[in-house]
Amino acid sequence: MTAIHASAESNPYVQMTQRLDQATGLLELDPGMAAILAEPAHELSVSIPVQMDNGTVRVFTGYRVQHSIARGPAKGGIRYAPDVSLDEVRALAAWMTWKCAVVNVPFGGGKGGIICDPRRMSSGEIERLTRRYTANLLDIIGPERDVPAPDMNTNEQVMAWFMDTYSAHVRATQTAIVTGKPVGLGGSLGRREATGLGVAISAREALRHIGMPNSGCRVVVQGCGNVGGLGAQFIQEMGHKIIAISDIYGAIHNENGLDMPSVLAHLDENRTLEGFPGADRIDGKELLELDCDLLVPAATENQITSENANQIKAKVIVEGANGPTTAAADKVLEDKGVFIVPDILANAGGVTVSYFEWVQDRMGYFWEKKDVFERMERIMVEAFQSVVESAERHKTSPRIGAYCVGVDRVAYCLKIRGLYA
Ligand code: GLU
Repeated sequence: MTAIHASAESNPYVQMTQRLDQATGLLELDPGMAAILAEPAHELSVSIPVQMDNGTVRVFTGYRVQHSIARGPAKGGIRYAPDVSLDEVRALAAWMTWKCAVVNVPFGGGKGGIICDPRRMSSGEIERLTRRYTANLLDIIGPERDVPAPDMNTNEQVMAWFMDTYSAHVRATQTAIVTGKPVGLGGSLGRREATGLGVAISAREALRHIGMPNSGCRVVVQGCGNVGGLGAQFIQEMGHKIIAISDIYGAIHNENGLDMPSVLAHLDENRTLEGFPGADRIDGKELLELDCDLLVPAATENQITSENANQIKAKVIVEGANGPTTAAADKVLEDKGVFIVPDILANAGGVTVSYFEWVQDRMGYFWEKKDVFERMERIMVEAFQSVVESAERHKTSPRIGAYCVGVDRVAYCLKIRGLYA
Protein backbone atom coordinates (compact mmCIF):
# COMPACT_ATOMS: atom_id res chain seq x y z
CA MET A 1 0.00 0.00 0.00
CA THR A 2 1.47 3.38 -0.98
CA ALA A 3 1.46 6.31 1.42
CA ILE A 4 -1.46 8.08 -0.22
CA HIS A 5 -3.74 5.09 0.24
CA ALA A 6 -3.18 5.11 3.96
CA SER A 7 -3.38 8.86 4.52
CA ALA A 8 -5.83 11.73 4.89
CA GLU A 9 -4.80 12.64 1.34
CA SER A 10 -6.89 9.72 0.09
CA ASN A 11 -10.00 10.78 2.04
CA PRO A 12 -12.14 12.92 -0.31
CA TYR A 13 -14.06 14.48 2.56
CA VAL A 14 -10.82 15.70 4.17
CA GLN A 15 -9.77 17.04 0.77
CA MET A 16 -13.08 18.88 0.32
CA THR A 17 -12.91 20.36 3.83
CA GLN A 18 -9.36 21.68 3.30
CA ARG A 19 -10.52 23.64 0.25
CA LEU A 20 -13.69 24.79 1.99
CA ASP A 21 -11.65 26.15 4.91
CA GLN A 22 -9.54 28.19 2.52
CA ALA A 23 -12.65 29.65 0.89
CA THR A 24 -14.47 30.47 4.14
CA GLY A 25 -11.24 32.18 5.30
CA LEU A 26 -10.95 34.30 2.16
CA LEU A 27 -14.65 35.17 2.31
CA GLU A 28 -14.26 36.04 6.00
CA LEU A 29 -17.37 34.05 6.88
CA ASP A 30 -18.17 33.84 10.56
CA PRO A 31 -17.22 30.56 12.26
CA GLY A 32 -20.86 29.55 12.77
CA MET A 33 -21.56 29.82 9.05
CA ALA A 34 -18.36 27.92 8.22
CA ALA A 35 -19.47 25.18 10.63
CA ILE A 36 -22.88 24.85 8.92
CA LEU A 37 -21.24 24.59 5.49
CA ALA A 38 -18.80 21.91 6.62
CA GLU A 39 -21.48 19.45 7.81
CA PRO A 40 -23.87 17.45 5.62
CA ALA A 41 -27.50 18.40 6.34
CA HIS A 42 -28.84 14.82 6.18
CA GLU A 43 -27.31 11.39 5.80
CA LEU A 44 -29.09 8.12 5.33
CA SER A 45 -27.46 4.71 5.37
CA VAL A 46 -29.60 1.80 4.19
CA SER A 47 -29.24 -1.93 4.00
CA ILE A 48 -30.51 -3.35 0.74
CA PRO A 49 -31.41 -7.04 0.61
CA VAL A 50 -31.39 -8.42 -2.92
CA GLN A 51 -32.37 -11.81 -4.23
CA MET A 52 -29.49 -12.87 -6.49
CA ASP A 53 -29.98 -14.92 -9.65
CA ASN A 54 -28.70 -18.07 -7.94
CA GLY A 55 -31.46 -17.83 -5.31
CA THR A 56 -29.30 -16.56 -2.43
CA VAL A 57 -29.93 -13.24 -0.69
CA ARG A 58 -27.16 -10.63 -0.46
CA VAL A 59 -27.36 -7.52 1.65
CA PHE A 60 -25.78 -4.40 0.14
CA THR A 61 -25.04 -1.10 1.89
CA GLY A 62 -26.22 2.15 0.30
CA TYR A 63 -26.02 5.81 1.22
CA ARG A 64 -27.71 9.05 0.32
CA VAL A 65 -26.19 12.24 1.67
CA GLN A 66 -27.87 15.62 1.29
CA HIS A 67 -25.10 18.08 1.96
CA SER A 68 -27.22 21.19 1.54
CA ILE A 69 -30.76 22.14 0.61
CA ALA A 70 -30.20 25.85 1.22
CA ARG A 71 -30.56 26.83 -2.47
CA GLY A 72 -33.13 24.21 -3.52
CA PRO A 73 -33.70 20.45 -3.62
CA ALA A 74 -30.61 18.29 -3.12
CA LYS A 75 -29.18 17.29 -6.51
CA GLY A 76 -26.57 14.76 -7.45
CA GLY A 77 -25.86 11.35 -8.86
CA ILE A 78 -25.83 7.81 -7.53
CA ARG A 79 -22.73 5.66 -8.00
CA TYR A 80 -22.40 1.89 -7.87
CA ALA A 81 -18.86 0.77 -7.03
CA PRO A 82 -17.01 -1.64 -4.71
CA ASP A 83 -15.04 1.16 -3.02
CA VAL A 84 -17.95 3.51 -2.23
CA SER A 85 -17.64 4.85 1.32
CA LEU A 86 -19.64 7.28 3.42
CA ASP A 87 -16.83 9.84 3.43
CA GLU A 88 -16.60 9.63 -0.34
CA VAL A 89 -20.36 10.19 -0.72
CA ARG A 90 -20.18 13.08 1.76
CA ALA A 91 -17.47 14.76 -0.27
CA LEU A 92 -19.29 14.17 -3.55
CA ALA A 93 -22.48 15.63 -2.03
CA ALA A 94 -20.65 18.76 -0.88
CA TRP A 95 -19.01 19.14 -4.29
CA MET A 96 -22.52 19.03 -5.81
CA THR A 97 -23.55 21.91 -3.51
CA TRP A 98 -20.64 24.08 -4.66
CA LYS A 99 -21.04 22.97 -8.30
CA CYS A 100 -24.74 23.85 -8.49
CA ALA A 101 -23.98 27.21 -6.91
CA VAL A 102 -21.06 27.91 -9.30
CA VAL A 103 -23.33 27.49 -12.33
CA ASN A 104 -26.14 29.16 -10.37
CA VAL A 105 -28.81 26.50 -10.81
CA PRO A 106 -31.39 26.45 -7.98
CA PHE A 107 -30.33 23.20 -6.34
CA GLY A 108 -28.51 22.11 -3.21
CA GLY A 109 -26.12 19.19 -3.28
CA GLY A 110 -26.54 15.49 -2.65
CA LYS A 111 -25.01 12.18 -3.66
CA GLY A 112 -25.79 8.52 -3.30
CA GLY A 113 -23.82 5.35 -3.56
CA ILE A 114 -24.12 1.61 -3.17
CA ILE A 115 -21.17 -0.64 -2.32
CA CYS A 116 -21.40 -3.24 -5.08
CA ASP A 117 -19.59 -4.43 -8.18
CA PRO A 118 -22.08 -3.97 -11.01
CA ARG A 119 -19.68 -5.60 -13.50
CA ARG A 120 -20.24 -8.86 -11.65
CA MET A 121 -24.02 -8.50 -11.45
CA SER A 122 -26.74 -9.35 -13.96
CA SER A 123 -29.16 -6.76 -15.26
CA GLY A 124 -31.92 -8.34 -13.15
CA GLU A 125 -29.80 -8.11 -9.99
CA ILE A 126 -28.98 -4.45 -10.71
CA GLU A 127 -32.68 -3.75 -11.28
CA ARG A 128 -33.71 -5.34 -7.95
CA LEU A 129 -30.87 -3.51 -6.17
CA THR A 130 -31.97 -0.19 -7.67
CA ARG A 131 -35.65 -0.66 -6.87
CA ARG A 132 -35.07 -1.66 -3.24
CA TYR A 133 -32.58 1.21 -2.77
CA THR A 134 -35.19 3.62 -4.18
CA ALA A 135 -37.85 2.23 -1.84
CA ASN A 136 -35.48 2.70 1.11
CA LEU A 137 -34.96 6.36 0.20
CA LEU A 138 -38.66 7.23 -0.17
CA ASP A 139 -38.78 9.33 3.00
CA ILE A 140 -36.12 11.76 1.81
CA ILE A 141 -36.42 11.99 -2.00
CA GLY A 142 -38.89 13.81 -4.25
CA PRO A 143 -38.91 16.31 -7.13
CA GLU A 144 -38.96 19.15 -4.57
CA ARG A 145 -36.67 17.45 -2.07
CA ASP A 146 -33.86 15.44 -3.60
CA VAL A 147 -33.39 14.61 -7.28
CA PRO A 148 -30.81 11.90 -8.11
CA ALA A 149 -29.02 11.36 -11.45
CA PRO A 150 -26.46 8.98 -12.96
CA ASP A 151 -22.87 8.85 -11.78
CA MET A 152 -20.16 6.17 -12.02
CA ASN A 153 -21.64 2.83 -13.23
CA THR A 154 -25.24 4.03 -13.31
CA ASN A 155 -27.05 4.97 -16.50
CA GLU A 156 -30.36 5.86 -18.16
CA GLN A 157 -31.79 2.41 -17.47
CA VAL A 158 -31.02 2.67 -13.75
CA MET A 159 -32.71 6.10 -13.71
CA ALA A 160 -35.78 4.63 -15.45
CA TRP A 161 -36.05 1.91 -12.75
CA PHE A 162 -35.58 4.53 -10.03
CA MET A 163 -38.31 6.71 -11.55
CA ASP A 164 -40.67 3.76 -12.03
CA THR A 165 -40.26 2.57 -8.43
CA TYR A 166 -40.84 6.07 -7.02
CA SER A 167 -43.86 6.56 -9.32
CA ALA A 168 -45.37 3.22 -8.22
CA HIS A 169 -45.20 4.36 -4.59
CA VAL A 170 -46.70 7.83 -5.12
CA ARG A 171 -49.34 6.45 -7.53
CA ALA A 172 -48.46 8.89 -10.31
CA THR A 173 -45.81 9.08 -13.00
CA GLN A 174 -43.24 11.49 -11.61
CA THR A 175 -40.55 12.04 -14.21
CA ALA A 176 -38.96 14.92 -12.28
CA ILE A 177 -37.80 12.58 -9.48
CA VAL A 178 -34.54 11.84 -11.34
CA THR A 179 -32.58 13.30 -14.25
CA GLY A 180 -30.49 11.51 -16.83
CA LYS A 181 -33.48 9.42 -17.90
CA PRO A 182 -33.96 8.02 -21.41
CA VAL A 183 -35.12 10.75 -23.80
CA GLY A 184 -38.35 8.85 -24.52
CA LEU A 185 -39.18 8.84 -20.81
CA GLY A 186 -38.91 12.49 -19.84
CA GLY A 187 -35.16 12.78 -20.35
CA SER A 188 -33.66 15.87 -21.97
CA LEU A 189 -32.05 15.94 -25.37
CA GLY A 190 -28.36 16.62 -24.86
CA ARG A 191 -28.13 15.32 -21.27
CA ARG A 192 -26.00 12.36 -22.34
CA GLU A 193 -23.44 14.61 -24.03
CA ALA A 194 -23.70 17.48 -21.55
CA THR A 195 -20.83 16.70 -19.16
CA GLY A 196 -18.38 15.94 -21.99
CA LEU A 197 -19.44 19.04 -23.91
CA GLY A 198 -19.09 21.14 -20.76
CA VAL A 199 -15.58 19.76 -20.26
CA ALA A 200 -14.68 20.71 -23.85
CA ILE A 201 -16.13 24.22 -23.39
CA SER A 202 -14.13 24.60 -20.15
CA ALA A 203 -10.97 23.48 -21.99
CA ARG A 204 -11.61 26.01 -24.76
CA GLU A 205 -12.13 28.84 -22.25
CA ALA A 206 -9.03 27.86 -20.26
CA LEU A 207 -6.79 27.72 -23.34
CA ARG A 208 -8.10 31.09 -24.46
CA HIS A 209 -7.65 32.56 -20.98
CA ILE A 210 -3.97 31.63 -20.77
CA GLY A 211 -3.25 32.49 -24.40
CA MET A 212 -2.74 29.01 -25.80
CA PRO A 213 -3.80 28.09 -29.37
CA ASN A 214 -7.45 27.20 -29.95
CA SER A 215 -6.50 24.18 -32.03
CA GLY A 216 -3.61 21.75 -32.41
CA CYS A 217 -3.02 21.18 -28.69
CA ARG A 218 -1.85 17.72 -27.59
CA VAL A 219 -4.42 16.25 -25.25
CA VAL A 220 -4.39 13.31 -22.82
CA VAL A 221 -7.64 11.99 -21.36
CA GLN A 222 -7.97 9.64 -18.39
CA GLY A 223 -11.25 7.72 -18.61
CA CYS A 224 -13.32 6.77 -21.58
CA GLY A 225 -16.84 6.81 -20.15
CA ASN A 226 -19.61 9.29 -20.61
CA VAL A 227 -17.36 12.17 -19.49
CA GLY A 228 -13.90 11.23 -20.83
CA GLY A 229 -14.97 9.52 -24.05
CA LEU A 230 -17.44 12.16 -25.18
CA GLY A 231 -15.29 14.98 -23.76
CA ALA A 232 -12.34 13.75 -25.87
CA GLN A 233 -14.55 13.60 -28.95
CA PHE A 234 -15.75 17.19 -28.50
CA ILE A 235 -12.18 18.40 -27.83
CA GLN A 236 -11.05 16.68 -31.02
CA GLU A 237 -13.91 18.32 -32.94
CA MET A 238 -12.51 21.68 -31.77
CA GLY A 239 -9.31 20.83 -33.70
CA HIS A 240 -7.07 19.41 -30.95
CA LYS A 241 -5.20 16.12 -31.02
CA ILE A 242 -6.08 13.34 -28.55
CA ILE A 243 -2.72 11.58 -28.17
CA ALA A 244 -3.74 9.15 -25.41
CA ILE A 245 -6.83 7.91 -23.59
CA SER A 246 -7.42 5.24 -20.96
CA ASP A 247 -10.10 2.95 -19.61
CA ILE A 248 -10.00 0.87 -16.41
CA TYR A 249 -7.78 -1.76 -18.06
CA GLY A 250 -5.03 0.51 -19.44
CA ALA A 251 -4.37 3.18 -22.05
CA ILE A 252 -3.69 3.65 -25.76
CA HIS A 253 -1.22 6.17 -27.12
CA ASN A 254 -0.41 7.57 -30.57
CA GLU A 255 1.57 10.80 -30.96
CA ASN A 256 -0.14 11.47 -34.30
CA GLY A 257 -3.53 11.51 -32.65
CA LEU A 258 -6.30 8.97 -32.09
CA ASP A 259 -9.50 9.17 -34.10
CA MET A 260 -12.11 9.43 -31.31
CA PRO A 261 -15.16 8.18 -33.26
CA SER A 262 -13.17 5.02 -34.13
CA VAL A 263 -11.94 4.69 -30.52
CA LEU A 264 -15.50 4.93 -29.18
CA ALA A 265 -16.79 2.47 -31.79
CA HIS A 266 -14.01 0.02 -30.80
CA LEU A 267 -14.89 0.45 -27.12
CA ASP A 268 -18.57 -0.06 -27.83
CA GLU A 269 -17.87 -3.29 -29.63
CA ASN A 270 -15.14 -4.78 -27.39
CA ARG A 271 -15.88 -3.19 -23.96
CA THR A 272 -12.12 -2.38 -23.77
CA LEU A 273 -9.64 -0.11 -25.57
CA GLU A 274 -7.24 -3.05 -25.85
CA GLY A 275 -6.57 -4.08 -29.42
CA PHE A 276 -7.31 -0.65 -30.90
CA PRO A 277 -5.28 -0.64 -34.11
CA GLY A 278 -2.43 1.79 -34.67
CA ALA A 279 -1.80 2.71 -31.05
CA ASP A 280 0.74 1.72 -28.37
CA ARG A 281 -0.44 0.17 -25.16
CA ILE A 282 0.71 2.07 -22.04
CA ASP A 283 -0.39 1.84 -18.41
CA GLY A 284 -2.57 4.29 -16.54
CA LYS A 285 0.31 5.76 -14.55
CA GLU A 286 2.35 6.56 -17.67
CA LEU A 287 -0.71 8.16 -19.25
CA LEU A 288 -0.98 10.88 -16.59
CA GLU A 289 2.72 11.69 -16.89
CA LEU A 290 2.82 12.00 -20.69
CA ASP A 291 4.13 15.19 -22.21
CA CYS A 292 1.03 17.12 -23.37
CA ASP A 293 -0.64 20.54 -23.37
CA LEU A 294 -3.96 19.56 -21.84
CA LEU A 295 -4.75 16.77 -19.39
CA VAL A 296 -8.35 15.75 -18.70
CA PRO A 297 -8.66 13.43 -15.70
CA ALA A 298 -12.17 12.03 -16.19
CA ALA A 299 -12.11 8.82 -14.16
CA THR A 300 -12.29 9.07 -10.38
CA GLU A 301 -10.88 10.71 -7.24
CA ASN A 302 -7.26 10.93 -6.08
CA GLN A 303 -5.51 10.39 -9.40
CA ILE A 304 -3.12 13.34 -9.18
CA THR A 305 -1.54 13.25 -5.73
CA SER A 306 1.61 14.29 -3.87
CA GLU A 307 3.17 11.14 -5.36
CA ASN A 308 2.86 12.00 -9.06
CA ALA A 309 2.09 15.75 -9.22
CA ASN A 310 5.72 16.57 -9.88
CA GLN A 311 5.78 14.29 -12.92
CA ILE A 312 2.72 15.91 -14.55
CA LYS A 313 3.78 17.73 -17.71
CA ALA A 314 0.46 19.23 -18.85
CA LYS A 315 0.10 23.02 -18.91
CA VAL A 316 -3.65 22.90 -18.38
CA ILE A 317 -5.76 20.39 -16.42
CA VAL A 318 -9.53 20.26 -16.91
CA GLU A 319 -11.14 18.06 -14.26
CA GLY A 320 -13.86 15.94 -15.82
CA ALA A 321 -13.98 13.69 -12.74
CA ASN A 322 -14.96 14.81 -9.26
CA GLY A 323 -11.98 15.20 -6.95
CA PRO A 324 -9.20 13.85 -9.22
CA THR A 325 -6.56 16.14 -7.70
CA THR A 326 -5.67 16.21 -4.01
CA ALA A 327 -4.99 19.44 -2.10
CA ALA A 328 -1.30 18.52 -1.73
CA ALA A 329 -1.05 17.99 -5.50
CA ASP A 330 -2.75 21.35 -6.11
CA LYS A 331 0.11 23.06 -4.31
CA VAL A 332 2.77 21.30 -6.41
CA LEU A 333 0.91 22.04 -9.67
CA GLU A 334 0.33 25.67 -8.72
CA ASP A 335 4.06 26.11 -8.09
CA LYS A 336 4.73 24.61 -11.53
CA GLY A 337 2.29 27.13 -13.08
CA VAL A 338 -0.30 24.58 -14.25
CA PHE A 339 -3.73 26.12 -14.89
CA ILE A 340 -6.45 23.91 -13.36
CA VAL A 341 -10.12 24.18 -14.24
CA PRO A 342 -11.57 22.61 -11.08
CA ASP A 343 -14.17 19.84 -11.10
CA ILE A 344 -16.95 21.98 -9.63
CA LEU A 345 -16.72 24.15 -12.74
CA ALA A 346 -15.30 21.84 -15.44
CA ASN A 347 -17.85 19.02 -15.13
CA ALA A 348 -20.87 21.20 -14.27
CA GLY A 349 -22.34 20.89 -17.77
CA GLY A 350 -24.00 17.65 -16.68
CA VAL A 351 -25.90 19.04 -13.74
CA THR A 352 -26.75 22.16 -15.73
CA VAL A 353 -28.60 20.04 -18.29
CA SER A 354 -30.04 17.97 -15.42
CA TYR A 355 -31.57 21.24 -14.26
CA PHE A 356 -33.00 21.78 -17.76
CA GLU A 357 -34.38 18.22 -17.68
CA TRP A 358 -36.07 18.84 -14.32
CA VAL A 359 -37.55 22.11 -15.64
CA GLN A 360 -38.81 20.42 -18.82
CA ASP A 361 -40.37 17.54 -16.83
CA ARG A 362 -42.12 19.96 -14.54
CA MET A 363 -43.59 22.01 -17.36
CA GLY A 364 -44.21 19.01 -19.60
CA TYR A 365 -42.72 20.85 -22.56
CA PHE A 366 -39.51 19.66 -24.18
CA TRP A 367 -36.81 21.77 -25.78
CA GLU A 368 -34.79 21.30 -28.95
CA LYS A 369 -31.22 20.07 -28.56
CA LYS A 370 -29.77 23.28 -29.93
CA ASP A 371 -31.59 25.28 -27.23
CA VAL A 372 -30.26 22.92 -24.55
CA PHE A 373 -26.68 23.28 -25.81
CA GLU A 374 -26.88 27.05 -26.33
CA ARG A 375 -28.23 27.65 -22.83
CA MET A 376 -25.71 25.28 -21.29
CA GLU A 377 -22.80 26.92 -23.11
CA ARG A 378 -23.90 30.38 -21.98
CA ILE A 379 -24.05 29.20 -18.36
CA MET A 380 -20.65 27.47 -18.56
CA VAL A 381 -18.93 30.51 -20.12
CA GLU A 382 -20.45 32.85 -17.51
CA ALA A 383 -19.44 30.49 -14.71
CA PHE A 384 -15.88 30.32 -16.08
CA GLN A 385 -15.73 34.12 -16.09
CA SER A 386 -17.00 34.42 -12.52
CA VAL A 387 -14.50 31.83 -11.31
CA VAL A 388 -11.56 33.58 -12.98
CA GLU A 389 -12.71 36.95 -11.60
CA SER A 390 -13.13 35.48 -8.13
CA ALA A 391 -9.63 33.93 -8.26
CA GLU A 392 -8.19 37.31 -9.26
CA ARG A 393 -10.16 39.21 -6.63
CA HIS A 394 -9.13 36.83 -3.84
CA LYS A 395 -5.59 36.38 -5.22
CA THR A 396 -5.99 32.62 -5.25
CA SER A 397 -6.15 29.63 -7.60
CA PRO A 398 -9.12 28.98 -9.92
CA ARG A 399 -10.07 26.08 -7.62
CA ILE A 400 -10.35 28.19 -4.51
CA GLY A 401 -11.84 30.98 -6.66
CA ALA A 402 -14.59 28.52 -7.68
CA TYR A 403 -15.16 27.46 -4.06
CA CYS A 404 -15.46 31.17 -3.14
CA VAL A 405 -18.16 31.70 -5.82
CA GLY A 406 -20.13 28.61 -4.74
CA VAL A 407 -19.68 28.95 -0.98
CA ASP A 408 -20.59 32.65 -1.05
CA ARG A 409 -23.89 31.93 -2.88
CA VAL A 410 -24.82 29.15 -0.45
CA ALA A 411 -23.85 31.26 2.58
CA TYR A 412 -26.02 34.10 1.26
CA CYS A 413 -29.08 31.80 1.13
CA LEU A 414 -28.41 30.38 4.58
CA LYS A 415 -27.99 33.85 6.03
CA ILE A 416 -31.11 35.32 4.47
CA ARG A 417 -33.20 32.25 5.36
CA GLY A 418 -31.95 32.41 8.95
CA LEU A 419 -31.75 29.74 11.59
CA TYR A 420 -35.02 28.09 12.56
CA ALA A 421 -34.86 27.67 16.29
N1 GLU B 1 -23.14 12.82 -11.37
C1 GLU B 1 -23.02 14.05 -12.07
C2 GLU B 1 -22.08 14.99 -11.33
O1 GLU B 1 -21.25 14.57 -10.57
C3 GLU B 1 -24.35 14.68 -12.43
C4 GLU B 1 -25.23 15.03 -11.30
C5 GLU B 1 -26.61 15.50 -11.73
O2 GLU B 1 -26.84 15.72 -12.91
O3 GLU B 1 -27.43 15.67 -10.82
O4 GLU B 1 -22.08 16.17 -11.55
